[in-house]
Amino acid sequence: MSEYRKDPVLNQWVIIAPEKTISYPAIKEQAIPENLPEFDENCPFCKFNGEDTKILLKYDFRNNGKWDLLVIPAPNPFLRVETELQKEGEGIFDLMSGTGANEIIIESPKHNEFTYKMDLNRVEQIFWAYHDRIVDLKNDKRLEYLLFFKEFGITPENKIIHPHSKMIATTFIPAHIELELLSAEDYFSYKDRCVFCDIVKQERKEGIRVISQNEDFISICPYASRFPFEIWILPQKHISHFEMSSKIMFYHLAEIYLDTFKRLNKVLGNVPYHTVLHTSPVQEESLEFYHWHIEIYPILNCYSAPQSGGGIFVNPVKPEDAAKALREATF
Ligand SMILES: [Zn+2]
Ligand SMILES: [Zn+2]
Ligand SMILES: [Zn+2]
Repeated sequence: MSEYRKDPVLNQWVIIAPEKTISYPAIKEQAIPENLPEFDENCPFCKFNGEDTKILLKYDFRNNGKWDLLVIPAPNPFLRVETELQKEGEGIFDLMSGTGANEIIIESPKHNEFTYKMDLNRVEQIFWAYHDRIVDLKNDKRLEYLLFFKEFGITPENKIIHPHSKMIATTFIPAHIELELLSAEDYFSYKDRCVFCDIVKQERKEGIRVISQNEDFISICPYASRFPFEIWILPQKHISHFEMSSKIMFYHLAEIYLDTFKRLNKVLGNVPYHTVLHTSPVQEESLEFYHWHIEIYPILNCYSAPQSGGGIFVNPVKPEDAAKALREATF
């Protein structure tokens, strides 16, 4: 039986139309090979030696004199901080110069260290790298938003399997984030509560869409999931900015993130996925209506792309079924 479900954050309807034909082993056919070498001579990150590239951040947390995690500018950046910010109008059109930044976070020196295989410390350090880049770049008052995301094995053009995430810093707020901010502010204006805090509270009470929880975080398949096995990781307590999280929260985030990826791997295999950090605009003070979170979208055979130019999403996997499979996975 199909149904419409309304996403309380975006105020958008999604069609949940479970298909009996989808079985998890079939989904596993999407998997990226697991038996890759630790070093691949064709991979730019394996070969990275620092020549001609400015290193923006370097961690050597194993203290062996080599790098463990690096942040570098993207090789062909389409945005640069050196560009002077200029705004102009051309009739009804608005134009801004390409001021901003594109960076790459190389998460490990090992080519085949998939997220679910990482140790807790490394995952925690990846989030510290995000934190440190935000703290550094927010000093540039022209930058409004820093979008951190990861596209693992998604398209043929993005075949670099080597663990890395990307960051784009812009002088505007990305459209999807702007929509979340506006809707969350609207919800707050008549309920006087944060919509994300309400989601956390209700999901804890109902339990059917919960994957796992720890002291600081909850991992759920959202009620109106647009994609099969869509996952959100949210702080249990209200906090608007990722970079304002406490030290212990980074540890607990790494814990639940790793736990979630181990479960995903167990249920779906080493599938391509997209992750994105949704946080508040960097120049804003603490906000009472917005609550940072991480969204994860595995890319599957039954991937739910918008079915039309109008943005109708048809999701063939019930979020309750996805959450149950992930919750019950043992590893
Ligand atoms: Zn590599
Ligand atoms: Zn909240
Ligand atoms: Zn979001």
